[in-house]
Amino acid sequence: MQDIEQELARLEPIARQLEPDSRQRSIHNQQVMDYANDFLQRLPDLKTFQPDGGANLLQGMPVGEQPYSMEQVLEALAGDVDYDGINPASGGHLGYIPGGGQYYAALGDYLADVFNRYAGVSYASPGAVNLEKSLIRWMGDLVGYPAGAAGDLTSGGSIANLMGVVAARDAAELRGSQLENSPIYLTEQVHHCVDKAIRIAGLGECPRRIIPMDAGYRMDAEALAASIQKDKSAGYRPWLIVASAGTTDTGSVDPLQTIADIAAFHGTWFHVDAAYGGFFMLSETARSALDGIQHSDSVVIDPHKGLFLPYGSGAILVRDGASLHKAHYYDAHYMQDAKSNQQDLSPADLSPELSRPFRGLRMWLPLMLCGLAPFRAALDEKLLLAKYFHHKLSALPGWEVGPEPDLSVVTYRYLPKTGDADEFNQRLIKAIHDDGRVFVSSTVLNGTFVLRLAVLHFRSHRQQVDLLLELLNFHAIRLSTR
Ligand SMILES: *Cc1c(COP(=O)(O)O)cnc(C)c1O
Repeated sequence: MQDIEQELARLEPIARQLEPDSRQRSIHNQQVMDYANDFLQRLPDLKTFQPDGGANLLQGMPVGEQPYSMEQVLEALAGDVDYDGINPASGGHLGYIPGGGQYYAALGDYLADVFNRYAGVSYASPGAVNLEKSLIRWMGDLVGYPAGAAGDLTSGGSIANLMGVVAARDAAELRGSQLENSPIYLTEQVHHCVDKAIRIAGLGECPRRIIPMDAGYRMDAEALAASIQKDKSAGYRPWLIVASAGTTDTGSVDPLQTIADIAAFHGTWFHVDAAYGGFFMLSETARSALDGIQHSDSVVIDPHKGLFLPYGSGAILVRDGASLHKAHYYDAHYMQDAKSNQQDLSPADLSPELSRPFRGLRMWLPLMLCGLAPFRAALDEKLLLAKYFHHKLSALPGWEVGPEPDLSVVTYRYLPKTGDADEFNQRLIKAIHDDGRVFVSSTVLNGTFVLRLAVLHFRSHRQQVDLLLELLNFHAIRLSTR
């Protein structure tokens, strides 16, 4: 017993080093704030793309018994982490689907981490769970779901798509030998994470019907109806249609209303991946383009895209909340005190996760502190910037510009008078990347290499789009006259 007491006396002061005192906290808070503020002050002049560098951190600073100072740590972050590669905090980020990083979200994360509220089960933190439910309800209202809908805040769209596919699978009670007889309908432009979700959900044996698209890369609804009809006549059991409300490549919105009618007629689950495009429902001008989404069975929507939050915020919404529960219910003796009743389901009843961060706070705080108006204005601004870019580039000689944007993505390429266009545009994007002030990405459409503009960052304004136009034109002419 004395040994134990001695050992406890030795360990306690060391273990207590995990808790900085109030003086240390204020010093460290200040250091971290200064580091972040310095970044935000310099952000307008920082490059959006800085290739190479980084990756030395682990060599210089192994995890060991002794601590490093905050100065050392911040210096390592500044040197090896925070200023290399793509700068996702920059308004010059016009590639892939840009993320956000709205400041109040960071304060929400700070508070969520300090209080460490456990938002998985109502019993543990009724307030945190209710706050998240109010956000799910708000997004449900936004897409037009009825009161029986349920959902969950996830780490992103990929997990949300997986949860939607799993809910659809269990609602259809699909298993075993039925799989090869149960086709899934989607287009080539569906995000790759849906393919992944289908495999992870054990549905790899389901035949996949790749439905043709129109010239704007939207699902051809007539071809969808014909494909389902043909399958039914041949004895197949169509069960899932996956549509996109804003494809990642081209920002195209499938004809959701018509697809909803087809899904209802054939009794199939209708899943909409609106990870990128969903929050454009906040824009009066774009809202009608997403009409029909209210008739879907499940929707994926990413607050870390259209709501400008930092990475780590996706959401799944399911019209019939019971099917989300059916796919994710659990039972465990050690959880007996925390079990929710059927009417009052908690996140742990609706998702694969048990322990999870209090994700709602980083979304709630910006919505509370900014109100909706600036979000709506920013989304309207992004739509207009894409139109503006499309218009401007179409008016310049030598450019082949893709379809008028449904949302905020534009595809384009320069057509050189001589030589291979794909190779030319690869050199062109390299020149933009070498410059680094704005960042765009590329894709392949119908076998052709094209460049993309994706405007979704809350810090992207006319200035960044004008700079891109200027750089594109300058380098296209320079490269053609070499
Ligand atoms: C980004 C995106 C995804 C994947 O979401 P993550 O949040 O990156 O996991 C899925 N679908 C679409 C349409 C997307 O744009």
